Amino acid sequence: MFPYASDEEALRDVLRLSRGMTYKSALANLDLGGGKSVIIGDPRKQKSDALLEAMGRHLEGLGGQYIAAEDSGTSVPDLKVMGRHTQHVAGIASRIGFDGNPSNGDPSPATAYGTFIGLKAAVKHKLGQDNLSGLKVAIQGIGNVGFRLAKHLKEAGADLWVYDIHAENMQRAIDELGAKPASAEDILFLPVDVVAPCAMGAVLNDRSIPELKAGIVAGAANNLLDRPEHDAMLRQHNILYAPDFAINAGGIIDVFYERKGASPDQVRAHVDTIGDTLTEIFNRSDRTGLPTGEIANELAEERFRKHTAGAGLAPERLACAG
Ligand code: NAD
Repeated sequence: MFPYASDEEALRDVLRLSRGMTYKSALANLDLGGGKSVIIGDPRKQKSDALLEAMGRHLEGLGGQYIAAEDSGTSVPDLKVMGRHTQHVAGIASRIGFDGNPSNGDPSPATAYGTFIGLKAAVKHKLGQDNLSGLKVAIQGIGNVGFRLAKHLKEAGADLWVYDIHAENMQRAIDELGAKPASAEDILFLPVDVVAPCAMGAVLNDRSIPELKAGIVAGAANNLLDRPEHDAMLRQHNILYAPDFAINAGGIIDVFYERKGASPDQVRAHVDTIGDTLTEIFNRSDRTGLPTGEIANELAEERFRKHTAGAGLAPERLACAG
């Protein structure tokens, strides 16, 4: 939910987002197409039960072709209100999560764990080490995903630097995890091994890439590249980039299994495959000389073409569903 300036702007965004979901689901080997919905409005001022219920009725009208889950501007309680009128909402079921802890359906813990697994695969590839002890990591954005990622890294022995625009989020990581504070200006440019952007997109751009000192970028935020060509620019600067839609797929994997009723172990095992997928991307990138984002797109396309051929569906049909 976002106060888009016009219908055209909302339409552009929803098409971009739904395309991204198609690639993310395919790369995660999920039996899903890709879809996204947007609600035009300011979530702080214009959200009401009536609006969310209307959305629920609309989802019901799509007959299960599309399943909605929480994202920017919406939360678990909002999806529950939509769920008064439809079964076709996800990320809301109370159950035992993939990590054995109680879950309210929030996919963030699985996203953070998947990002941790992906970050480890990147470290193994670039630095040849399995052990994260003493690894220096800078995390931008200590929210739902960033804090949990920081916790996994701390438990693995990494040294952390953190920055968040909300001082209390940053303070929590300092107090509870012994992280060191950084500033808005320096968080991406510290002399660390890994930079993990977990706040917003487009942070990898003409200005930032030449200034990065880390050899690895591995974070959960969506749409990290400002423009597609920044993929190649990272490679030219000898920076290993873990493509965002490959490394942050833990949440969609979790949401998928919520509807299937799988065991926590099954979900965890699937999230663990994010590491193998990234290793395949990194190896193929080394072999071909192509940047990692381009390889991830290729691999996703191979997977959804194979899948749609098997299911007898035209790719464009599947890309609209789910
Ligand atoms: P969140 O809103 O809980 O956390 C984002 C944090 O970033 C907040 O603490 C916010 O204060 C901080 N922030 C915002 N602007 C900042 C800036 N300029 N500098 C530093 N910090 C800033 O969101 P989240 O659920 O943790 O998601 C983080 C990112 O990961 C988003 O880009 C989201 O789209 C992506 N993502 C999340 C999930 C998920 O399961 N939650 C799944 C896939 C991708």
